[in-house]
Amino acid sequence: MEELKRIIEEKGKVLSDQVLKTDTFLNHAIDPALMDAIGRDFAGHFRDAGITKVVTIESGGIAPALATAMHLGVPMVFVKKAHPVTMNHPLTAMVHSFTKNRDYELCMESGLIEAGDNVLFIDDFLANGDAFKGILTLLDQAQAHLAGAGICIGKSWQRGRKTIQDQGIPLYVLAPIRSMSEEGIVWDEN
Ligand code: 5GP
Repeated sequence: MEELKRIIEEKGKVLSDQVLKTDTFLNHAIDPALMDAIGRDFAGHFRDAGITKVVTIESGGIAPALATAMHLGVPMVFVKKAHPVTMNHPLTAMVHSFTKNRDYELCMESGLIEAGDNVLFIDDFLANGDAFKGILTLLDQAQAHLAGAGICIGKSWQRGRKTIQDQGIPLYVLAPIRSMSEEGIVWDEN
């Protein structure tokens, strides 16, 4: 997606050859026009997949997931990274956080995603695929089907892309990065 790549080149900060900072437009401060364009692009790509719900993980995935759900005309559910006392019957999965380098428990109230739902996973980044694996575990518990994964920024050399493809899940990455350094970003094929 050329618009996203342009904004990444303009405003993103390469913190290391592994981590890109995007907090002025994607996952802290949020550019609403960009989210709308991202949502339209994901929705167009998965339009014929019979999606009934969009799922993501708080907080970085919420804005692109909501925009996608609006364009598809379906509900969106975001999975929580902690267990609130208000949650009665949580489905849970342990995952490792790439950016915080620690394990945490994903929680989703049972019933928000139901048996037979055909679900699209949206996230801001794909690194080692741990968030994806956590979502897959929760959807298995809910007896729902994962129909695809839409990722804003994918780092192609990290394990996540292969993990998703090995599961046979259709993967669509808007801005796939082949490598990055202080000199800049090298884009990958879609
Ligand atoms: P994974 O679970 O695929 O290893 O990592 C994906 C999650 O880690 C994303 O939801 C995102 O929050 C975070 N993440 C991974 N790589 C980056 C990165 O380069 N920059 C930022 N800001 N977040 C990242």
